Amino acid sequence: MDLKSGYPYWAIKNGLMQAFPKLDRDVTCEVVVIGGGITGALIADELAQNGHEVTVLERRDVGWGSSAASTALIQYEIDTHMTDLAARFGEADAVSAYRACAQAIDALEGLADAVGDVDFARQASLYYASDEGDLDSLRREWEMRRQHDFDADWLTPEAIASRFGFEAPGAILTPQAARLDR
Ligand SMILES: Cc1cc2nc3c(=O)[nH]c(=O)nc-3n(C[C@H](O)[C@H](O)[C@H](O)COP(=O)(O)OP(=O)(O)OC[C@H]3O[C@@H](n4cnc5c(N)ncnc54)[C@H](O)[C@@H]3O)c2cc1C
Repeated sequence: MDLKSGYPYWAIKNGLMQAFPKLDRDVTCEVVVIGGGITGALIADELAQNGHEVTVLERRDVGWGSSAASTALIQYEIDTHMTDLAARFGEADAVSAYRACAQAIDALEGLADAVGDVDFARQASLYYASDEGDLDSLRREWEMRRQHDFDADWLTPEAIASRFGFEAPGAILTPQAARLDR
């Protein structure tokens, strides 16, 4: 069995869902958004919803950049721990960045409802330490999130094994996540 291929999963599962014509004439608009991935699409949608005339320019096909490679998990956790953000920018700003990401999950759920025919579901997310060396920083991360009322549980190795069937020295389990397939 081939476990790897050069194609993102979504490209194989859903194919090219939307094709847009080449820009072959001058257009006039208020705002040009460069790039038709998830970032450009959400910015363009927000601007258009607020009455602006927007053109999205994409040099390939829309949604064919790294957006097509996503595992479809929507988390409030960004790639930098809250503890690391706090060390760099202060705790208040770190918490507010995480809170904005958590609120974005609700906003995306609303958008999925409005668009319709979108496979959106709330889904817990598990963030585990792959070895003992990562355990302390993960535990500190969980403590800071709990201190600021983020809904997150700490799982011991026993809890991870019984609930998820694999071994890890510790994990943060958060119900505040989702999956999304358009
Ligand atoms: C393997 C993998 C798994 C991931 N899993 C997850 C996940 O589970 N959950 C999650 O939230 N995130 C995940 N991510 C991250 C997520 O996919 C990206 O953060 C997100 O898709 C970035 O979207 P984007 O619109 O900024 O970029 P892109 O989707 O890359 O879109 C940028 C677009 O801009 C276009 N462009 C660039 N320059 C120009 C130009 N000059 N003119 C015209 N067009 C231009 C590109 O062609 C591209 O289509 C994953 C990423 C990868 C690679």
